[in-house]
Amino acid sequence: MSREATPFDGHSVSAATRSFLSERHGLLIGGQWRPSLSGATLDSHDPATELHLATVASGGAADIDMAVTAAHRAFTGPWSRLKARERAGLLVRLARLLERDAEMFTELEILDNGMPRFIAGLTVSNCVEMFDYYASAILRIEGVTTTPPPHVTADAEALTYTLREPVGVVGLIVPWNVPVSTLTLKLAPALAAGCTVVVKPAEETPLSAIALGRLIQEAGFPDGVVNIVNGPGESAGAALSTHALIDKISFTGSTEVGRKIVQAAAGNLKKVSLELGGKSPVVVMPDADLELAGSGVSMATFFLQGQNCMAGTRIFAHASIHDELVARLEAFTGFFTLGHGLDPANNFGPLIGGAHAGRVLGHVDRALNDGATLVTGGAKLDRPGHFVPPTILTDVRTDMAVFRDEIFGPVMAIHRFETEDLEQIAAMANDSVYGLSGSVWTRSLSTAHKLVSRIRSGQVSINCHGAIATNIPFGGYKQSGWGREFGREGLDAYLETKAVTARL
Ligand code: NAD
Repeated sequence: MSREATPFDGHSVSAATRSFLSERHGLLIGGQWRPSLSGATLDSHDPATELHLATVASGGAADIDMAVTAAHRAFTGPWSRLKARERAGLLVRLARLLERDAEMFTELEILDNGMPRFIAGLTVSNCVEMFDYYASAILRIEGVTTTPPPHVTADAEALTYTLREPVGVVGLIVPWNVPVSTLTLKLAPALAAGCTVVVKPAEETPLSAIALGRLIQEAGFPDGVVNIVNGPGESAGAALSTHALIDKISFTGSTEVGRKIVQAAAGNLKKVSLELGGKSPVVVMPDADLELAGSGVSMATFFLQGQNCMAGTRIFAHASIHDELVARLEAFTGFFTLGHGLDPANNFGPLIGGAHAGRVLGHVDRALNDGATLVTGGAKLDRPGHFVPPTILTDVRTDMAVFRDEIFGPVMAIHRFETEDLEQIAAMANDSVYGLSGSVWTRSLSTAHKLVSRIRSGQVSINCHGAIATNIPFGGYKQSGWGREFGREGLDAYLETKAVTARL
């Protein structure tokens, strides 16, 4: 039965969040909040109620040009003169401000994206940790010293050392699925490295980037170091990725748009980092701990309603444990309580929008036509909001679209396999254009490590799935991306190396 949507589904939000939502928000360019040059705006909606949340300025190519110019001026001016310790101090101050406003950020992420409170809270506290982590990493940006061979300085005594320098002006283009977190894991290392940035948030989730922009100003970052331009991907995003004064684009999003970014970057051969889509394998062996796998495999697929790039959505279940595993996975769907993320009792939110929910359910319909069997789920809830419950499909063949395409929703596709030959199992797991994450479920250390070494993915876990943390590198093999984020490698992505040789 459907029921009326009420603001925030009857839940209250803090005064700070209410006040934030009631304002009209501009673009942050050169330290000023301003409307877009065209006057265009975009609206943000709560995916759990479908109600309007806020209106924000929507920039285009001309606004991007102003923002890039401001970032370029800041890079060659005040930002480059700041000492590393002063940059670290600003990042630490930003971390403390984010900690102070954590409740508002948590509520904005819940409202803008639809995520459950426990995930929103986790991502905000993780952002605080990332600003602190990269602030301390600034003091470890260091090069090497060596001596050049005699021919370089005609036998004179000499010394070579390397400097690590910022890449320059960077465009950060982010998706909607974990907005403030995806932004922070680019922004914190970019600023730590000494880059200036232009941020292009996703159209669906413009709010937390704006709130972060305010804190960046309060922390005292010089004007123009961080510029934020909400707006459409095809205009604002494309203008950023083609701009001649942008030295690097760091992009997280779909593989399809990733390809466009690479083409757009060719003009001035800007550097590109890509975190793209995935269709990660989850291999459950005959000797797996099925109690552990029942919950762990379920979370691998259904965490964040499956709207996460590392989701384990290709389940390979060995025939000997297939039926028991399916029964446990079906039973575990009872763990999920669907509803508005503001209610801490709910741990499963809506999908980002109606069109996306339609696409996800289209994949399920096609799979059923192709011969899959529906165990549970498969239909939208009859209530306001884009709620699609955890959906499990069995009898899935490896050639079906549901087993090959990224769905980005709560759809688990289970393929039964017979072999115990690890080469064959790895070949099945690797039969994908993607290579982002994956997991192996077994009690045998030997089986686990042999399979891990054969699976071509940026991250493979044993008896757990999707290790996302500040200090663990993350990124894709194959069409899942270029480069790594998080940890030391996340900082390296924003640094150049200059070799200096001195004849003494
Ligand atoms: P998307 O590719 O549609 O959009 C991502 C961003 O790119 C948005 O800000 C969008 O406005 C912008 N954009 C769109 N067209 C553009 C263009 N022509 N030029 C420049 N920018 C453009 O992705 P989405 O729907 O927002 O997010 C879902 C996708 O993101 C999934 O494929 C998912 O796997 C991927 N993702 C990957 C990771 C990872 O770390 N690998 C993390 C989260 C999401």
